[in-house]
Amino acid sequence: MDLSRFPRRRYTPLATPLEFLPNFTRALSPQGGGPNIWIKRDDMLGLYPGGNKTRKLEFLVADALAQGADTLITCGAPQSNHCRITLAAAVKEGLKCRFVIEERVPGGFNESASGNHFLFRLFGVEALTVLPAGSNMGQAMQQVADELAAQGRKGYIIPGGGSNALGGLGYVACAQELQQQFFEQGVQIDRVVVGSGSSGTHGGLLAGFLGNNINIPIVGIGVSRDPQDQEPLVYKEAQAVLDLLGVALTVPREAVLSVGGYWQPKYSVPNARMVEAVQMLARSEAILLDPVYTGKIMAGLIGLTRQGFFKPGENVLFLHTGGLPSIHVYERELLGLIELPA
Ligand SMILES: *Cc1c(COP(=O)(O)O)cnc(C)c1O
Repeated sequence: MDLSRFPRRRYTPLATPLEFLPNFTRALSPQGGGPNIWIKRDDMLGLYPGGNKTRKLEFLVADALAQGADTLITCGAPQSNHCRITLAAAVKEGLKCRFVIEERVPGGFNESASGNHFLFRLFGVEALTVLPAGSNMGQAMQQVADELAAQGRKGYIIPGGGSNALGGLGYVACAQELQQQFFEQGVQIDRVVVGSGSSGTHGGLLAGFLGNNINIPIVGIGVSRDPQDQEPLVYKEAQAVLDLLGVALTVPREAVLSVGGYWQPKYSVPNARMVEAVQMLARSEAILLDPVYTGKIMAGLIGLTRQGFFKPGENVLFLHTGGLPSIHVYERELLGLIELPA
């Protein structure tokens, strides 16, 4: 798969580490006989504290610059990592940045919140519109673009999570980076566990695996939807990425697998299994997970292990997608000081 004909900005100088997690593997299966857990440290991507959105933005921002945009416009939840990393890219490129924020939990937007919201203000977001859950975000972003156009400026709209075909190329690049690392480090991975939200990560990685003949099954852990709603999104994203690349492949239905049950009671609302996962990785490997995404995704990996989903000795790769700043919004929950639903 040839990515070189797409303009790309580089926000990370080197490959992110691919590492074995010996202590976590032991903590997960104290009697032995469980899977070996590996990690891909995409929490160490650029635009610090980086995450999966950094990879998508390399292609999206390059496109914005090619089109002569002066402002990036995007949308997300009040603690959106995607909004914060888009803003960081804008600052680095000398662009302005505006957000449309969807208040998914009523009253969830707090003007003086810490975490990503604090960083929105510190990095200097130009304007931020807050709308109630279920609002038409595409329309609201277009309205921002029209307002800018009326002032002789030029906005570039990036969809939620940066998940369109172009953004998905970031995870095709990740697939190619992994392929190189598997080869250089002599590692044979049997399965990849990845978060599945707006689906650019899951869908882009799947497209990259299919197009590069990497025959490793991917299981997506839903962060906001159960499989019947999530899998069609991933399928559509993976196919759109292959089509954009001109790869004559149809995504096989059975290649799209997601798991539900770990994101409840609601997107971004903490649960007890998330806290267990965050504590387990922090206390075995000193690696931080976030409460909204990667904590629930790792809870999925732990749950699948306990159900016997993985074969003994199988090498399972956990894709760490970032999210660090929101840890500070939920400090008391993560220390187990607040009772939470399972
Ligand atoms: C956005 C995000 C995800 C979900 O990725 P999608 O590409 O939207 O499916 C997972 N983890 C973190 C930390 C994120 O910020």
